[in-house]
Amino acid sequence: MNKYWSRRDFLKRKFNLGAALLGCLAMGGLPAGVHGAIRRLTSMPEDPFTLGVASGDPTPESVILWTRLSSEVMSQLGAVNDTIAVDYEISPTRNFSNAIRSGSIAAVADLGHSVHADIRGLEPDKVYYYRWHVGGVTSPIGRTKTAPSASARNQHFRLAFASCQQYEHGYFTAYQHMAEEEFDLIIHLGDYIYERSWGNNLVRRHEGPEIITLNDYRNRYHTYKSDPDIQAAHGSAPWVVTWDDHEVDNNYAAQIAEDDQTPEQLLQRRAAAYQAYYEFMPIRLPVGRQGPDMPIHRRLRFGNLMEMHVLDTRQYRNDQACGDGRKRSCAEHQDPTRTVLGQAQKNWLFDSLATTDATWNVLAQQIMMASLRSVGEAEGEELWPMDIWDGYPLERQEVLDHLDRVNTPNPIVLTGDIHSNWAADLKLDFDSPSSKLIGSEYIGTSISSGGDGQDMTEYGSDLLSNNPHVKFYNANRGYVAATLTPELWQTDYKIVPYITSQGAPLSIRQSYVTEAGKPGVQEA
Ligand code: FE
Ligand code: CA
Repeated sequence: MNKYWSRRDFLKRKFNLGAALLGCLAMGGLPAGVHGAIRRLTSMPEDPFTLGVASGDPTPESVILWTRLSSEVMSQLGAVNDTIAVDYEISPTRNFSNAIRSGSIAAVADLGHSVHADIRGLEPDKVYYYRWHVGGVTSPIGRTKTAPSASARNQHFRLAFASCQQYEHGYFTAYQHMAEEEFDLIIHLGDYIYERSWGNNLVRRHEGPEIITLNDYRNRYHTYKSDPDIQAAHGSAPWVVTWDDHEVDNNYAAQIAEDDQTPEQLLQRRAAAYQAYYEFMPIRLPVGRQGPDMPIHRRLRFGNLMEMHVLDTRQYRNDQACGDGRKRSCAEHQDPTRTVLGQAQKNWLFDSLATTDATWNVLAQQIMMASLRSVGEAEGEELWPMDIWDGYPLERQEVLDHLDRVNTPNPIVLTGDIHSNWAADLKLDFDSPSSKLIGSEYIGTSISSGGDGQDMTEYGSDLLSNNPHVKFYNANRGYVAATLTPELWQTDYKIVPYITSQGAPLSIRQSYVTEAGKPGVQEA
């Protein structure tokens, strides 16, 4: 028996095992999780923790701890179908001199030997360290942090957000820098993997053609998560993750594929993609997971400073209007029944925005909300980017009207998807210069998608001049850091000058702020 286990821990261990079993059984569409006995390994042919460790979805008293046993090692052990006991420890100190909790979780074959330990009973607003043990091997140590208590009058919070990391386009150098900052929280806004290759000058390859099956998606995540920089960032802070399109298929909408798959085929593919996402992410098991359905929109609170609404703008949306791309408006575009959020998510969001009392109310989501229209070739022709909120203008208006009507304090929209940095005012009417400001939108560039990048592009300068509510553009690679106090939200756009070779330094390209009580973005 592991030397860290007391009798009391043994009881907890049983409890956690129960929770893991329950979790597996709740995964609809899967055969019941555990087959036969739980196997306790006593030795390992090699390190099974090659994908690192992670934590996520912090609350004031809990956090999810994650790891996944190497499938290669499982097959060397003849354990691919076995249920394996994996032990964890969590401690307020990095040397584990007083591990406050240890226990065991069943890693089941149906979930690719991933483990998600929902550790309860922790103290609020506190840094913890954790590690895993299996067969005499110890994992790297991860750092995590619980959320402040819901009623805390916390004065300071630091977060980072990132998105879009096409593995073939470059190195994840930005994550190395992010890890060093030891944020309170890291948010991932989607395109964690890419389902296919695109672009030139690929600096490294992910294997195979476009991915379709569960096995394909697992292999793709395996490649991305083998990267040491992304492992360092996961090990440095708790993450809150949401997906965009490339976790399934470029620009998919609910059950509509980009290419020639039928809705039935896309739903099967979506079930595989969503399951792999769960297996590889430090995310709390979504309630209502059933085959191709996986509701991941959720709310997290960080004391009185921040209420965060994590949104899903892909799973429930109507197909892009007028044939997708940048198009003139058509009748479909103006259909008031078209949705990005879907009715259930929208009801939940609207209720929450009407009752929140936090200083900063974040929508952590994927697609640009501020209008980003451009001028077409023909006289007076206006082009709308149909994949982002511009493609769903009536529902966007509903969201903006609601924020205004219920007077949500300080709405801040965080966005990924478009591989460039922007700062924008959210207005009740984007076409009227004098229209009321409703909130602020900060859009973060990609970690690697698009290659090295550059400061300004023709695309960026055109859109800046066509959209006066949009204040800032930059197309380098990097991530965005934000510092929150009761008076001020500060956004620092952190960039690296290149990613097609390693070792790029980090710098702050620009900072923007939003003052509490004064919606909109201002250059710092
Ligand atoms: Fe992307
Ligand atoms: Ca995207």
